Amino acid sequence: MNNLSQKLKDALRDVPDFPKEGIIFKDITPIFKDPNLCKSLAEAMVEEFRNQKINAVAGIESRGFLLGPMMANILGVPFIMVRKKGKLPWKKKSIKYALEYGEAEIEMHIDSINNGDNVLIHDDLLATGGTAKAAAQLINELGGKVAGFSFLVELSFLKGRKTLQPHSPKIFNIADF
Ligand code: AMP
Repeated sequence: MNNLSQKLKDALRDVPDFPKEGIIFKDITPIFKDPNLCKSLAEAMVEEFRNQKINAVAGIESRGFLLGPMMANILGVPFIMVRKKGKLPWKKKSIKYALEYGEAEIEMHIDSINNGDNVLIHDDLLATGGTAKAAAQLINELGGKVAGFSFLVELSFLKGRKTLQPHSPKIFNIADF
């Protein structure tokens, strides 16, 4: 494990039984007390994709909105928002996806992507992969290509990577459990 990975693991706070019993929630809020750590994490999450021509970083609501804009800024490309249903004010495209219990829906503005754009998808954490997969499908439907996925944390035991691989084999994390 490298130094940054260790620093991230040290900063994360495990909260048992949140939001429901049996889940160990990886709380990323302590990271934001340390501006140097935030910068290093955002840099590391784009560094992996430096040799690809990335046209935009897509962040998934809510915690993908924290470091996503920093990553886009480092690359000098637009930040685009993948939002939960009912939040976007203008013309949008939606996709429904299955959760462990029930269903969720995410949306993007129809002008967020130009045809053929190479989009890097970012969220704080990869669990089962359902959310990031839905974001990838939405990006494809809007004419974009998925350049890869960049997460702070991957819960490898949930095998979300398998779900994302058909969209892009480039799946990066800083720390995994
Ligand atoms: P999934 O679609 O199963 O990959 O879930 C990913 C989304 O749920 C991400 O937006 C995460 O922020 C959130 N999430 C899932 N499990 C956890 C966890 N154990 N700790 C923190 N966030 C989680």
